[in-house]
Amino acid sequence: RTREAAAGWTGPGRTADGHPVQILANVQDGAGARVAAEQPIEGVGLFRTELLFLERTTEPSVDEQADLYAAVFEAMGDKKVIVRTLDAGSDKPLAFATQPDEPNPALGVRGLRIGLADPGMLDRQLDGIAAASERTGADVRVMAPMVTTEAEAQWFAERVRARGLQAGIMIETPSTVLLADRLFRHLDFVSIGTNDLSQYTFAADRMAPTLSDLTDPWQPALLASIKLVAQAGQRAGKPVGVCGEAAAHPLLAIVLTGLGVTSLSCAASAVRAVGSRLSQVTLEQCQAAAEAALAASDNITAAQAAQAALQQPP
Ligand code: PEP
Ligand code: MG
Repeated sequence: RTREAAAGWTGPGRTADGHPVQILANVQDGAGARVAAEQPIEGVGLFRTELLFLERTTEPSVDEQADLYAAVFEAMGDKKVIVRTLDAGSDKPLAFATQPDEPNPALGVRGLRIGLADPGMLDRQLDGIAAASERTGADVRVMAPMVTTEAEAQWFAERVRARGLQAGIMIETPSTVLLADRLFRHLDFVSIGTNDLSQYTFAADRMAPTLSDLTDPWQPALLASIKLVAQAGQRAGKPVGVCGEAAAHPLLAIVLTGLGVTSLSCAASAVRAVGSRLSQVTLEQCQAAAEAALAASDNITAAQAAQAALQQPP
């Protein structure tokens, strides 16, 4: 029955009582965006641009970049697309952008830190994004990965705005959770990357299978971090998305909605299951599930508590 309901769900993202939660897709190229466009999504919440260039040994030209970005924008028509600037380094090394031989690449020069070290490379990418946006008339916004300070967020946002585009950052580090209110002074939106936020909050390698309980997005401390950011977003009147793997799980999507998140971006294949499940519960039920999960003592009991809360009569 769940599968049937999912197949019949046509969007847009809403709880049973009409509270809007945008359901967006994560994509990495034009082909993927065309597949995602067949789903009932309201746009792309995470376009991972670095994955276009994994095989490249040299930096792609601005024109080359613009063509690749335009392919994604065209697939989305007039829907919004949040482009992430290169998240090179650590688990996604790019030959032309990554520092070789770092002893601890997850804590090294990755994400926006590469742009800070080489602003020209970031500017050329932003020029490529702006050119593709102009060419296609798409609703394009740009965000940076792996930000840790207010100055970094401000520095990045100025460069994006200079090109007439909306600017945001990913929330992937505990420092940006703590600074969320101040970051919103400089930004139009944020998107929480639960994969890295887990890694850096729990000091646990996201690639280590033996630590997967700690990097599980059901961990109450991760949920508490998400709540802090969502509340800061509400105070600022600005959107707070989640674009890590957490957004792909229907029960967790309910909890994230209850925590105050305004959009969920996940693999295109998960869109219907998430949107459909969300359409079956009220905002109040989402909030009850979120409170139950937050009060749990670990990831396993958090998921159980959320499920049990949903089974309570309203
Ligand atoms: C994340 O960290 O949650 C995220 C969405 O980015 P990536 O998985 O590409 O690091
Ligand atoms: Mg990340």
